[in-house]
Amino acid sequence: MMWRADVQLGALNTLRLPSVAQFFARPDSLTDVREVVAAAVGKGLPITILGGGSNVVLHARVPGCVVSPRIGGMQIRRIDDDVLISAGAGVRWHDLVRYCLGQGLAGLENLALIPGLVGAAPIQNIGAYGVELAERFHSLTAVSCRDAAVVTMDAHECGFGYRDSVFKHSLKDGYVIVSVTLRLPETHDPRIEYPDVQRELGAMGVRPSAVSIAEAVTRIRLRKLPDIRRVPNAGSFFKNPVVSVEAMERLCGVLGSMPTYNDSNGIKIPAARLIDAAGWKGKTLGAAGVWYRQPLVLINRGDACATDILRLAETIRRDVSERFGVDLELEPAVVGTDE
Ligand SMILES: Cc1cc2nc3c(=O)[nH]c(=O)nc-3n(C[C@H](O)[C@H](O)[C@H](O)COP(=O)(O)OP(=O)(O)OC[C@H]3O[C@@H](n4cnc5c(N)ncnc54)[C@H](O)[C@@H]3O)c2cc1C
Repeated sequence: MMWRADVQLGALNTLRLPSVAQFFARPDSLTDVREVVAAAVGKGLPITILGGGSNVVLHARVPGCVVSPRIGGMQIRRIDDDVLISAGAGVRWHDLVRYCLGQGLAGLENLALIPGLVGAAPIQNIGAYGVELAERFHSLTAVSCRDAAVVTMDAHECGFGYRDSVFKHSLKDGYVIVSVTLRLPETHDPRIEYPDVQRELGAMGVRPSAVSIAEAVTRIRLRKLPDIRRVPNAGSFFKNPVVSVEAMERLCGVLGSMPTYNDSNGIKIPAARLIDAAGWKGKTLGAAGVWYRQPLVLINRGDACATDILRLAETIRRDVSERFGVDLELEPAVVGTDE
């Protein structure tokens, strides 16, 4: 059986939202992905792609075929001065980070402990503590959801931006990524400009090596973010807004100084600061809540559905917009329907 019908997705998303896929397939090879895609196209079924479910808000029903590629395997190649590492879409991202560190390869340490699978990493160009996937990206292989053709794309074709890529826009649900290849730096260039990382390394009393940075990042994340096994959540629910210099200065005048980062479109400011200043930290609305240590994280307090989480998100968005004139954008993908 290529796919199963009426599959519960509640345990397959980290917000633990109840949802049922009309059809669900978990192909574990390139050939199987092509077969599932071709069959769905043949039957006129829409295709939705699901990885580890850590960046999605699932409505009650997902019509069509949910494809969740579970292709494994990691492979290192050295070409001239480059170290290329390829991993199957179904490899856990953090396992890839650990594997590289174990092989003495630096470059992914700031991205330690990000939940989810390798296949999803390019979708929003995952990033943390000053490093983005795009900086380490070489290419990906994917299967077209139009005709099941296999394509390879480089960084330019992926159109990476801050938590963004073409896969969120023109190519949304257009390709099933089956493997990702990264290019890692030959010499280690520690990235420790984030004050949290510097402080943690100081407290650990160690010099910044790839392993110690991964350890520092892990400690910070374990302290700040709720454990998905106990408190269902999807990580940051809002992107950090990018504003003009004038808007940033106005906000600093109202809220006091805040960490800012240059972005190609302006100045990136912490959304958490705005949400916190609006008084949302630790607040609840029905079955949805705001994490008490990190107001960017919305949590399922028990039996929330997508509508509860999205109602809270919208209430926060409106409040922040009215108070500070800044429009927050959702980070996770909203999938399916309640009808
Ligand atoms: C506690 C917590 C902390 C987090 N911290 C961070 C962080 O620091 N930085 C960060 O960037 N993100 C973070 N996230 C968000 C999330 O971990 C990442 O976005 C991750 O890459 C999602 O992977 P996933 O496999 O769970 O994808 P899913 O949630 O299953 O899917 C996310 C999107 O990718 C698409 N997709 C998934 N797999 C494929 C594929 N093989 N081919 C094509 N499309 C695909 C889906 O259709 C969907 O649109 C965090 C999440 C949590 C819960």
